[in-house]
Amino acid sequence: MSAKVTAAEIEAAIRTVPDFPKPGIQFKDITPLLADARLFAGAIDLLTAQFSPGSIDAVVGIDARGFIFAAAAATKLNAGFVPVRKRGKLPFTTIEQDYALEYGNATVAIHTDAIRPGSRVLLIDDLLATGGTSAAAAALVQKLGGKILEASFLIELKFLNGREKLSGFPVRSLVAY
Ligand code: AMP
Repeated sequence: MSAKVTAAEIEAAIRTVPDFPKPGIQFKDITPLLADARLFAGAIDLLTAQFSPGSIDAVVGIDARGFIFAAAAATKLNAGFVPVRKRGKLPFTTIEQDYALEYGNATVAIHTDAIRPGSRVLLIDDLLATGGTSAAAAALVQKLGGKILEASFLIELKFLNGREKLSGFPVRSLVAY
């Protein structure tokens, strides 16, 4: 068996692409990490380390890169996977939550039957920036009666203070900038 993956190895596999998708943004590209079988599996191990299989009912992943990590974490934890998507993408009845972007607003949605009241939820996204997206996703889960045990991120941009928007549950990230 290969040695345990470290946060430093994960950080080394994340590529920073300057000025994408617009000038001034340092885009954190996770595709080199995903392409490496050992590092991808190791990232999932680290994201789920706090929990034993059966201790989580649903892993909620955020559109779109959050799906990749949340779906893999769900199978590892023997939990269901629930998508939170951008407005207009989910086919069944939804509830929606607006949040502020740097310029304008965005809306995320969840199926009304996706979370049973009292469900133990792990929320996962690839990256925590201002926290607007994950706070909106957390609000949807809580509106459906889900109990968020933790919000986990591969990457956290600390200087944007996204954690301040996420209260009432622990927030964890593997790599911080
Ligand atoms: P925020 O709502 O500001 O916390 O933004 C988080 C969402 O935007 C996540 O779903 C990320 O995938 C994406 N995102 C924000 N900033 C970056 C970045 N610098 N590189 C890659 N993705 C980003």
